[in-house]
Amino acid sequence: KSKAKLFLENKPQITFKDVAGADEVKEEVKEIIEFLKNPRKFTKYGAKIPKGVLLVGPPGCGKTLIAKAIAGEADVPFFSVSGSEFVEMFVGVGASRVRDLFDQARKYAPCIVFIDEIDAVGRYRGAGIGGGHDEREQTLNQLLVEMDGFDPHTGIIVIAATNRPDILDPALLRPGRFDRRIVVGLPDTKEREEILKLHARGKPISEDVNLTAIAQQTAGFTGADLENLLNEAALIAVRKGQEKITQKEIEEAIDKIIAGPEKKSLVLS
Ligand code: ATP
Repeated sequence: KSKAKLFLENKPQITFKDVAGADEVKEEVKEIIEFLKNPRKFTKYGAKIPKGVLLVGPPGCGKTLIAKAIAGEADVPFFSVSGSEFVEMFVGVGASRVRDLFDQARKYAPCIVFIDEIDAVGRYRGAGIGGGHDEREQTLNQLLVEMDGFDPHTGIIVIAATNRPDILDPALLRPGRFDRRIVVGLPDTKEREEILKLHARGKPISEDVNLTAIAQQTAGFTGADLENLLNEAALIAVRKGQEKITQKEIEEAIDKIIAGPEKKSLVLS
């Protein structure tokens, strides 16, 4: 059986048009996309591109989405693993999975290797919590070996995501590893409006709904929260048997999301 199946997702059809806001992030990764499209062009000029990019920011702000969109824009394969998967594995398996992952990536290059929750495997080695976690350490070491091992012009870009950059092992951040850091933060008001507009597409939103006002009302919401907000509003409208989602359902959905998940079962029942 093909090991590639373990990691390879189809070439993501997701592109920057699916990522609302985040203009600075898009600007920062432009060069990486150019490189993936044509690594030789960069080799010819002796120009170095980072091998590893660290996306830093709170959950739900679009780190995974952006990584996929980079692959989609460059039209290259996307390999994805989660750091927490490695840690749950049997002894010795984590390191060999890392080896397999990079073997596959080399075959499919140019491509993207995405490691979600890198902190699960890349936590500072001296930092207690379950101390002497050999399996995790071996996996991390293998990752470092792989990253040092490939030539920058191979066309592999490793993108890792974390919301805890502070606990990462400094070895991961050294030059030639994850030496480019990009912050994917909470959306501001304008970005929230853009995210709402994007996720409102295809939903029957009533004319009385003012997405600008909703954006102003939802400070602190992540992209995932905003997507969820419109979905909740749609569910409420369905339940009421309404043809359209009105301001009222949106207000109810906001209240519900602010109240938190503990209320979910109450409202849904
Ligand atoms: P986690 O750390 O939980 O994996 P993440 O930062 O990787 O979070 P994503 O999984 O990429 O977040 O985002 C979750 C969902 O939220 C996305 O699939 C998308 O639907 C929506 N979303 C987040 N940010 C944006 C954005 N800027 N534009 C459009 N949709 C967004």
